[in-house]
Amino acid sequence: MPTTPAFPPPKMGEPYLLTPGPLTTAYEVKQAMLKDWGSWDDDFRAMTRDLRARLLALLGPGGAGYDCVPLQGSGSYCVEAMLGSFVPKDGKVLVLSNGAYGLRAAATLDQIGRGRVLLDKGDYLPPRGDEVARILADDPAITHVLAIHCETSSGILNPVEEISEATYAAGRKLLIDSMSAFGAIPLEPDRIRYEAMVSSANKCIEGVPGFGFVIAKTAEIEAAKGNSHSLALDVHGQWATMEKTGQWRFTPPTHVVAAFIEALKMHQAEGGVAARGARYERNRDVMVAGMRALGFETLLDNRWLSPIIVTFFCPADPAFVFARFYDLMKQKGFIIYPGKLTVVDSFRVGCIGRMDEHVMARVVEAARASLAEMGVASAAPPAAALEERKKLAA
Ligand SMILES: *Cc1c(COP(=O)(O)O)cnc(C)c1O
Repeated sequence: MPTTPAFPPPKMGEPYLLTPGPLTTAYEVKQAMLKDWGSWDDDFRAMTRDLRARLLALLGPGGAGYDCVPLQGSGSYCVEAMLGSFVPKDGKVLVLSNGAYGLRAAATLDQIGRGRVLLDKGDYLPPRGDEVARILADDPAITHVLAIHCETSSGILNPVEEISEATYAAGRKLLIDSMSAFGAIPLEPDRIRYEAMVSSANKCIEGVPGFGFVIAKTAEIEAAKGNSHSLALDVHGQWATMEKTGQWRFTPPTHVVAAFIEALKMHQAEGGVAARGARYERNRDVMVAGMRALGFETLLDNRWLSPIIVTFFCPADPAFVFARFYDLMKQKGFIIYPGKLTVVDSFRVGCIGRMDEHVMARVVEAARASLAEMGVASAAPPAAALEERKKLAA
């Protein structure tokens, strides 16, 4: 009898999504949605309680003083909810940006009328602790620092520990967008201090899209009453209703919640954050080593490469056309992701989702075959890309 592989391919001939969410989910997660729940019913209230408790458990023992507030919408809704709820109207945020999500947070603050300054490091350079310390020392009006844990646009894993140290050494508060890292990279309050963080259902926990969650110090949530610019995106409002009635304030994404609880059970069965992170690291290591052997180069040095998503430079060979490469990879069962760098052409390959290193070895083989079909002799990037990368070393 054939043995069932630990990571069976997506059913019904679906391609693997090598993207940072929505991503490839387990069949069990999809199957958990084949039922209807009443949002007022005790069964669903128990599910909401379970969901919140399971997420808090991922913080480890240091999570005791924190609470979890799930919120309808995609991840950006939760970022906006966190910023609007925890930054008072007269607050001012230092936004640490090195990509699209940092810039989006700054735009969100502008839209909701909160003060902010931006440390813009460009496409991928990490914001460092000493820079944060300097800016905070020069500007006493800054009340909060916003850091992006993994900046998904380049795949860089930002140094949140040193950012946290600099923030609290200066007596300010840290908010973290851990959207694409939480569940695979530890964010335990025992080891890194922060007031609040956000993530969403469709990233490293491997659920389907439809809601996100804010995890914050309970005292911060209590103190956030009346801060929010928004009714629907008020973290305190959602929390107060959940605490009182066990219900979401407005229609909950019932099926998505059911899928997410299944995903959390699978996360636990796999071995929690450490095991999830280790699988993603193996995915990255096998994929990056294989792609480098084909001649591709990563944007980032190994030191900054996250196990979430990796940016590669497009080859200089004129026979390489990204749209064609994308189609050829899709024909072979893999959906890759365009790049987001402003200076040179790039593409991204995600390492997260329900797949293991054996799948990643097949991704590399598909890339090799696709290059051959396009007639690309070398996957080496243009000189300008390597020049760009030198900035990281400087
Ligand atoms: C995915 C993601 C978000 C949220 O994006 P949505 O499209 O609103 O889900 C925010 N920040 C980071 C770092 C992300 O990876």
